[in-house]
Amino acid sequence: MRIAVIGGGLAGLTAAAYLSESDSIEGVLFERSPHLGGRAFTYEKNGFILNYGAHAIYGVDRHDLTDISNELKLEFNSKEVDKRKVMYTKNGKMTEAPLDFVNLVKTDLLTAMQKVRFVGEITSVIAQIHKIKHFPTLGDYLRESKADEEIKELWEHLVCSNFFISPEDARKVSGAVISEYYHNLFLSRRPVNYILGSWAMITGQLEAKIRKSETFEIRLKDPVEEVIPEEGGYRVRSKQGETVFDRIVFATPLQQTLRLLSPTEWAPYLAKYENNTPTEVMVYDVGLREIVARPFTYISDMDNKMFISDVSATDPTLVPEGGQLLQGIAYLTGHFEREEELDHYLDAKQNQMETLFDRYYPGWRESVKVKRVSKKAMVTSVKNTADNELLPVRIPQVPFFFCGDGCVGKGELAERSFSSARTVARMLLEEAMLLSS
Ligand SMILES: Cc1cc2nc3c(=O)[nH]c(=O)nc-3n(C[C@H](O)[C@H](O)[C@H](O)COP(=O)(O)OP(=O)(O)OC[C@H]3O[C@@H](n4cnc5c(N)ncnc54)[C@H](O)[C@@H]3O)c2cc1C
Repeated sequence: MRIAVIGGGLAGLTAAAYLSESDSIEGVLFERSPHLGGRAFTYEKNGFILNYGAHAIYGVDRHDLTDISNELKLEFNSKEVDKRKVMYTKNGKMTEAPLDFVNLVKTDLLTAMQKVRFVGEITSVIAQIHKIKHFPTLGDYLRESKADEEIKELWEHLVCSNFFISPEDARKVSGAVISEYYHNLFLSRRPVNYILGSWAMITGQLEAKIRKSETFEIRLKDPVEEVIPEEGGYRVRSKQGETVFDRIVFATPLQQTLRLLSPTEWAPYLAKYENNTPTEVMVYDVGLREIVARPFTYISDMDNKMFISDVSATDPTLVPEGGQLLQGIAYLTGHFEREEELDHYLDAKQNQMETLFDRYYPGWRESVKVKRVSKKAMVTSVKNTADNELLPVRIPQVPFFFCGDGCVGKGELAERSFSSARTVARMLLEEAMLLSS
């Protein structure tokens, strides 16, 4: 069976790595850019290792990446973020984020009674008896809940940071999704970890595995421009030529998938996914020649909806000797009719971010060795809110396979790319096995 995998991000690499293990499959992985990794692309600059997207893994012991690593024999180490040094700031006052029992006791965000109530909420989520799962959205639950405003704000803030979305959008996440996500996370023994050495540790091994197989080819700088049905297969027209395949896997963000399929007979079956919206943030990475301050590993500014992670406090392999890598992220909200309005909003966000750096990392401006600002970065191609609908990995009337963070799968962020790719690969491996037997 000949299979085309379109897109060489985490999803495409994972799918191709599984498929490359089968003798009955021959394939091509098409990637439009000069390198693999997509939004998990990692590069080195002046001794600092920078990621397009961050490499935090939530609940690594229960994460699909752990199963995939076992199945594909990948090796990686991860390190837990020091929860004692995760802080929230609100109304200019800083306090421990109540992420575990010790911090819950210490935090000033809640009163003693509210702490008891919050522990009760966590316990009932773990026991899967929390009411939240029956509500269409977190917002609906919070409106009906008799809990104090502080507890409601805490729920909103937790969802906001774990799903990487603004507090307004956090209220739109479905109750069932929240219930399942936190059931998994609260049971995890390792809730927030960084992959030591960044995403490159994973993408490098997936690439090596694909290249080692004699059956799968990787084509860089070769964007797919058209997929044309023909007798017994599909002709893939890419920049470098045309090839016919039996099966096609779209491992591209939803927006690109829809664009590629819009001129085809299958466009009507995909129309309902056109109005889905992505999650976007501003990213502000700074590599400093020395550690200017290390008051905590993470500070979330609840008033301005932005946070700074001291990435190198958890993963020192990313910096040259003595250096410090800080990553600021600001949630982007609002709709702007005019380009100038958007520019103005983004400039204001950038100023707010720099002020946050000034407050907690005085002297950072003088120590900058590397800086990377992405004013509008796509975190997930479909925001997992109740008004969006994730793309299924298969649609009955459409002959293709879909994977990526805009698809149905386990977890949030990159976990959905991994889990949807694994599902698609299993389906195709099963089909290839049946055909060859
Ligand atoms: C700032 C930021 C922070 C993040 N933090 C985290 C985090 O802490 N933890 C986490 O789990 N996730 C995080 N993420 C999300 C994570 O990076 C993404 O979910 C994941 O990388 C998406 O992988 P993917 O393979 O689904 O898509 P992509 O990475 O977008 O891969 C798609 C690939 O398809 C290629 N392509 C597109 N069109 C074509 C075409 N026509 N032909 C050929 N190739 C094509 C693209 O070039 C790309 O390489 C973060 C993302 C960002 C931006």
